[in-house]
Amino acid sequence: MRSETTSSPSLFRDPTRYDVVVIGAGHAGCEAAWASARMGMTTLLLTISIDQVAHMSCNPAVGGLAKGHLVREIDALGGLMAMAIDATGIQYRILNTKKGPAVRSSRAQADMYSYKSWVRERLEAQEGLHIKQGMVEGFLVDDAPGLRRINGVYTQAGEEFLASAVVVATGTFLNGLIHIGMTNYPAGRAGEFPSVGLSGALEALDLKMGRLKTGTTPRLDAKTIDFDRCQVQYGDKVPQPFSFRTGKIDRPQVPCWITRTNEATHNAIRSGLDRSPLYGGVIKGVGPRYCPSIEDKIVRFPDKTGHHVFLEPEGLQTREYYPNGVSTSLPIDIQIRMLRTIPGLEEVEIMRPGYAIEYDFVAPTQLGRDLMVRAVEGLYLAGQINGTSGYEEAAAQGLLAGINAALRNKGEPRLVLGRDEAYIGVLVDDLVTKGVTEPYRLFTSRAEYRLTLREDNADLRLMEKGYRAGLIAREEILQHREKVRTIKEGIDDVRGRKVTVSLPSGPPKGTSLEQVLRQPDVSYGDLVNFDKGFIPISEVEAARQVEIQVKYEGYIARQKAVVGKMARLETMAIPEDMDYSSLHSLSREVRDRLEDVRPLNLGQASRIPGITPAAVSALMVYIKARGRGKGEKGKHIQA
Ligand SMILES: Cc1cc2nc3c(=O)[nH]c(=O)nc-3n(C[C@H](O)[C@H](O)[C@H](O)COP(=O)(O)OP(=O)(O)OC[C@H]3O[C@@H](n4cnc5c(N)ncnc54)[C@H](O)[C@@H]3O)c2cc1C
Repeated sequence: MRSETTSSPSLFRDPTRYDVVVIGAGHAGCEAAWASARMGMTTLLLTISIDQVAHMSCNPAVGGLAKGHLVREIDALGGLMAMAIDATGIQYRILNTKKGPAVRSSRAQADMYSYKSWVRERLEAQEGLHIKQGMVEGFLVDDAPGLRRINGVYTQAGEEFLASAVVVATGTFLNGLIHIGMTNYPAGRAGEFPSVGLSGALEALDLKMGRLKTGTTPRLDAKTIDFDRCQVQYGDKVPQPFSFRTGKIDRPQVPCWITRTNEATHNAIRSGLDRSPLYGGVIKGVGPRYCPSIEDKIVRFPDKTGHHVFLEPEGLQTREYYPNGVSTSLPIDIQIRMLRTIPGLEEVEIMRPGYAIEYDFVAPTQLGRDLMVRAVEGLYLAGQINGTSGYEEAAAQGLLAGINAALRNKGEPRLVLGRDEAYIGVLVDDLVTKGVTEPYRLFTSRAEYRLTLREDNADLRLMEKGYRAGLIAREEILQHREKVRTIKEGIDDVRGRKVTVSLPSGPPKGTSLEQVLRQPDVSYGDLVNFDKGFIPISEVEAARQVEIQVKYEGYIARQKAVVGKMARLETMAIPEDMDYSSLHSLSREVRDRLEDVRPLNLGQASRIPGITPAAVSALMVYIKARGRGKGEKGKHIQA
């Protein structure tokens, strides 16, 4: 039965049935479809253009600060992204190498065309996964009183597909509107149709929607760039793979280039501000503060005399370059004028202009931590539709939504990741608890347990979960368990070995190799110099873990104690049928916010913006009283 609120001609009487339908083959949709099919669900991936599977709408790169952590977590859970970039990466760099391991992040330039075909090939080869081109216009919904359940989707061409779970991963396409100067036109992305019907269908399900915007840079023709006037930037000598499964990166690696804007560039930009959709009031959606357009940077930081521009290749078979740092929606004549003031770009030709895009998103506070819409059983949302920005954020959500759609169909408990377990947990908890007011991207600073959520230990944190979900192969998990055993034995070994060391001041002193390794300038490999009988572990990854875990043990223990304390709030469940409107001791605003999010436990409640510690205590008292059979009446709690 169609949702009462949507309509379209029914051409087919005998629709095909799937276990899971995924709408959109962007980074979220690809992971969702991959996970669902690998977990044994017959899965349909419907997308507007099959040629654009896993397309990189913006910069041709994967990873970066905090995003690299996400990619490693996706990999540990059995997702695609890390393997895809390892198969197609053309320049690898570890960022923050001078800082501690917690904030070290991997980043790699992708050959974006190889990336797309690699992902498409993998998806096409996956048993149980069907890919079809089609624009989804609306949902098939069972609408019984008190129960709204998803039943499938229908497309613009009139096809109907039945499924008990649907993952919507439509990116920037919902009512997408592109702006270049004062010109605007409907599009999902440059050169692609917008998705118009689906936004209305989501609204018809009573979902609260909003409008956001993002932007991208012009793309440049390398034939017209004078690289001799730019500074070369090489990647790491030995590229470190993203995936725990990749042995070695052996693709050719290429350089990027650095140049800089100057006063002439800024003047060219200022001369076009009166035709800027951003400053002319044409754009209504909110953009990302942390990823401003070049015109935004000039207006917000007028005293800055230059901004870096990184020239990044889009692939090995194309001459198109991505000038990272000059995202813009200024008119094309201003785009070309400002670019030609930049060293190396004096004669540059634009192959595709920069633009901004406004699009609809769904307020993510309406989702559970499994990414299912709370009010519509079986409907999951993932990626930019939830107000996030970035391929990695999208892929992480897609994977989680795909896993949960499959688990639900199998009647198994859902997979929810805690803030202390994974950056994916931080991302999802932030979204569903706090909501978004601007495109959300992940930062390491958003995680309170950074010391334990490192890129290097993503497998130790998550691989068993991926295995339980059915996404990690048996031989992989056995290998992983062997690694865990080696690490433990390595730590026990350094702990048990007693040595005598000479200190700069004072007499030689007896200590353990563990204490020696805690010294800042001593590495695991150096330990042979302190104990001739010591045989270091030969597996590089396991040896690295021994070093990190021993060196940071004190800090990690302190963080674990905090996690333990917070976990007590997380375990205090709020009854699912909680009637917040009857909690008169809480202010109306607090009640409304709690009603909006409907937190699962006190920990989540405490993170909702506007929920004070007093309100949390009041809730705690209420829950305890209710557990003893007493209600709100007779208590004197003010919050
Ligand atoms: C102009 C622009 C600039 C950006 N700038 C940045 C940036 O600076 N930094 C950053 O990190 N990220 C940026 N992004 C965002 C990044 O591209 C996205 O966050 C990421 O691709 C989102 O992934 P997704 O899977 O949610 O959606 P997308 O990658 O957008 O994929 C959506 C998919 O859904 C399909 N689809 C849509 N509607 C339907 C429908 N009705 N039926 C069937 N299929 C449908 C589309 O065809 C597409 O395949 C930018 C994106 C754009 C467009």
